[in-house]
Amino acid sequence: QQAPDAILFFRLGDFYEMFGEDAETAAPILEIALTGRGAGESGKVPMCGVPFHAVDNYLPKLVLAGYKVAICEQMEEAAAGKGIVKREIIRIVSPGTLTEKLPREDDHHYVAAVYGEREREWGLAFADITTGEFTVFQTPFEDVLFTELERIHPAELVIAADLAKKNRRFSLYYCTRCERKNFSKTEPLQVRFPGQHELLATAECAAQAAAGLWNYIQETMCGLDLAHFLEIRTYTSEECMLLDQWTRRNLELTESLRAKDKKGTLFSVLNLTKTAFGARLLRNWLEQPLLREKEILKRLDRVEYLVEDSFLRVDLARLLTGIYDLERLIGKVSYSHINARELLALAQTLEQLPAFRAVLENSSSGRLQEYAALLTGLDDLAELLREAIHPEAPLTVKEGGIIKPGFSVQIDELRQIAAGGKSWLTQLENQERERTGIRSLKIGFNKVFGYYIEITHANTKSVPADYQRKQTLANAERYITPELKAYEHKIMTAEARLIELEYEEYLKLREEVRSRIAVILRAARALAEIDVFVSWAEAAVRYHYVRPQLRHDGVIAVTEGRHPVVEQVLDGEAFVPNDTQLSSEQHLAVITGPNMAGKSTYMRQVALLVLMAHIGSFVPAEKAAISLVDRIFTRVGASDDLAGGQSTFMVEMREVAHILRYATPRSLLIFDEVGRGTSTYDGLSIAWAVAEYLASQKDLKTKTLFATHYHELTQLAEQTPGVFNLHVGVKERGEDIVFLHKILAGGADRSYGIHVARLAGLPPEVLVRARMLLKELEDTATKVRMMGEDQKTAQLTLFEPLPNHPILEEVSLLKLEEMTPRQTLEYLYDLQERLKKTHEF
Ligand code: ATP
Repeated sequence: QQAPDAILFFRLGDFYEMFGEDAETAAPILEIALTGRGAGESGKVPMCGVPFHAVDNYLPKLVLAGYKVAICEQMEEAAAGKGIVKREIIRIVSPGTLTEKLPREDDHHYVAAVYGEREREWGLAFADITTGEFTVFQTPFEDVLFTELERIHPAELVIAADLAKKNRRFSLYYCTRCERKNFSKTEPLQVRFPGQHELLATAECAAQAAAGLWNYIQETMCGLDLAHFLEIRTYTSEECMLLDQWTRRNLELTESLRAKDKKGTLFSVLNLTKTAFGARLLRNWLEQPLLREKEILKRLDRVEYLVEDSFLRVDLARLLTGIYDLERLIGKVSYSHINARELLALAQTLEQLPAFRAVLENSSSGRLQEYAALLTGLDDLAELLREAIHPEAPLTVKEGGIIKPGFSVQIDELRQIAAGGKSWLTQLENQERERTGIRSLKIGFNKVFGYYIEITHANTKSVPADYQRKQTLANAERYITPELKAYEHKIMTAEARLIELEYEEYLKLREEVRSRIAVILRAARALAEIDVFVSWAEAAVRYHYVRPQLRHDGVIAVTEGRHPVVEQVLDGEAFVPNDTQLSSEQHLAVITGPNMAGKSTYMRQVALLVLMAHIGSFVPAEKAAISLVDRIFTRVGASDDLAGGQSTFMVEMREVAHILRYATPRSLLIFDEVGRGTSTYDGLSIAWAVAEYLASQKDLKTKTLFATHYHELTQLAEQTPGVFNLHVGVKERGEDIVFLHKILAGGADRSYGIHVARLAGLPPEVLVRARMLLKELEDTATKVRMMGEDQKTAQLTLFEPLPNHPILEEVSLLKLEEMTPRQTLEYLYDLQERLKKTHEF
């Protein structure tokens, strides 16, 4: 009843069992056997189960398959004669609130909530339960909402049922539908985050989304105090560049277009971080470039310090190697899921902090010293954990073996009794063998009878009188003695008490860590930043990047710029660097050149350089002076969105519409072959009109790179101020062409499409035919061009104008609608015969 849409994991001793429909659903997904269990009059119910200690392996399988799981735990120890033990649902695990075995450690795992106020204002809240990040955002634009949703790609979206129904774009996410009132219940959020009152009051929709999200998290975590959620953050489009989904995709920031993984992305080039939380911060920074110069300069300075001070850089990188995922470890402390080994990992990480401080404070430049102050206040905690936890502690926390000898006098004493008891048993065994003369006598233990002396039937006649028979087996008898029972009691109580005490100590340690969460997270954030800066400095040195100079006059001037990703994947070939010069006077470059020449690479390179400057990274160039932009837009290549119900051309036009609507004079636009998705004339007209619009709108003057195969567009430069032509150089060598990849002034004269088709291995007969057709088309086009001014609009045709001929007249007079198919065929046959005989035709 409490979790009707979830599969119930019902704890029974060492197993989580599932029953009925739950079992039938889960067994095939978990690849476990489906059995049955007697259920009184209703007969057998289907059942399956997983061992409790392996639950972390099984849980994600079900949840990632789209199911929720309610974990029902035994809340007291089972004791004989006590009846059914008390059980409670302690957590409901859903895709967004999963914390176990997450697929990727360098990515966030968000659960999000959206709230819409009459669809005129949108609030978005998202949280990562594993790290305690909680962020809100508000916007009046639906498109911006979806852009942000796509960026954070939440594993689960909490949304009011009516809203989800109204807008099918939400269906792309795993939606948990709830009632609207869940969003208006804001008190729990306000009580939990009292310091954020102002933020929540100014952004009402965001506050509602945050409330809906917090209520949901509380519901799934069954009210657990998640101490690692320290604050709610927010961001605005004035601080961060909002990159639309197409631009993020086209620039391949964190995911490649083809393989959809991080290989071949800017992330993979710049991410030389050593820690998972550093990598996650880097991902955030990459996807949210900064807009404020002061902030950018601060980051650039830090990268520069580390580029210059190679000792500091190398020392920090070395220290970072030994750091565990502090954020997620702390998350586990917060939701009480940390084991002793993970506490040791935490200790090991905290133990590195003094070394970090020393390196930061003693470096000759001393420039990153401010971080040292953020890495303090935890040395005693590291020491405590190290002293308390056994280096070989087990993965479970309720079976003892956690506390290190020497930490607690009481635990040491109990351990001695337990261990001493065991050696006493061996001693007793030897003593009894001698007394009875039975060499096969042995002392054993089982859960029902406790300790016993076992004697085979053959020897029972030698059993002493003080032995009491307890159990008869097929080939042996089992006995107890008062002495054995007394000792058993002592050992068993010592062992039970030991486990209890160790668990209590573990809880105390966990609480101690919990009380320091804010300090630990402060250190984690500082380490994450250091990690990113070290990573960018290392990339800058390794790949020869330079610090971009920031300007304010609208000029983007790059000398010998390179594409950061392509330059790394070229197989032995050298990347050809290219210059860029854009300004308010020369702001729209029409780029022509053969296929495969490097137009797309060049344009993306410019966009990436500008983006890298905005995140505060050095850039791949000899020299770069970059005026900050407000947005980067790209329209590249053809892709379709069949799931969203849109064709390739429709997607293309939507992207163009989006760009024209939102671009400002401070934006940077990349257009790659606009209009390619439709017929030649439609495409050319649209491309022309778009370029002309961008060039001729007086106030716009948006810096634009416009690659096209429509060579007609090069004429624009002659007619419109601000437009200039670039082309990519190639050299012809007989039938072959050599790509120079060099961007040169002026327009290209040819496309070389058939040359490229040949390189790609099209069959020779297709190439021969293509060449013939091309020649015909070019000749016709030339003729059309040479015709008088009034005929210029004539359509191209595949056929030459035909001469007068009686046969042609005959064909044109045929009444096809009156002929049967057979008559038509016969006529055609006859026609062919006559043609063969007609020499002059
Ligand atoms: P199309 O018109 O067919 O889309 P294109 O002109 O946009 O082609 P790109 O896709 O940019 O061509 O480049 C094709 C290939 O050329 C790239 O994959 C890369 O391997 C190589 N290349 C591009 N630019 C350079 C460069 N500056 N230096 C070296 N190689 C390059």
